[in-house]
Amino acid sequence: PEVRELLLSRITDVHDYPKPGVVFKDITPLLADPLAFGALTDTLVELAGRYGATKIVGLEARGFILAAPVAVKAGIGFIPVRKAGKLPGATLAQAYELEYGTAEIEVHAEDLSAGDRVMVIDDVLATGGTAEASLELIRRAGAEVAGVAVLMELSFLPGREKLAGALAGSPLDAL
Ligand code: 5GP
Repeated sequence: PEVRELLLSRITDVHDYPKPGVVFKDITPLLADPLAFGALTDTLVELAGRYGATKIVGLEARGFILAAPVAVKAGIGFIPVRKAGKLPGATLAQAYELEYGTAEIEVHAEDLSAGDRVMVIDDVLATGGTAEASLELIRRAGAEVAGVAVLMELSFLPGREKLAGALAGSPLDAL
């Protein structure tokens, strides 16, 4: 409960960003506070352990920031899932639907394989499209999904339903 209050106090609602009518959850105050960032990291390390993760996937871009210290503290590898065209090696790619149009994410094929148990970390679960696509990548690589952990879910969107039980936890629950 204390950690939840601390984290909540370090997230700002920015109205009409990135476009009119949208309320954007800004996590930069949390990142700037080492106590809050550390508490979040510890919570995610605990979740990764509980779900038996052997690799951590971070989703570009804010997911990278949260996932990297978790991987180091948990003593397991960090794997970036990037927007298409950013990774230099041989990749697996997965397209997914956006509100308007489609997007594509990629992972280095050699980074995931059978026997890996992968936890996906991101800051916000909105429609769930990005996280769902990352689970497809993990499964197509032959690896197992340990779970998805996000700092917060936007409860007015159906993200959780898309993940079919793979949501391991959100330190802030649904907002
Ligand atoms: P989804 O694919 O679930 O619709 O969108 C999730 C992705 O969009 C995440 O990678 C997340 O970083 C970003 N995102 C969507 N809404 C917000 C928001 O209000 N705040 C932040 N920080 N990220 C958001």
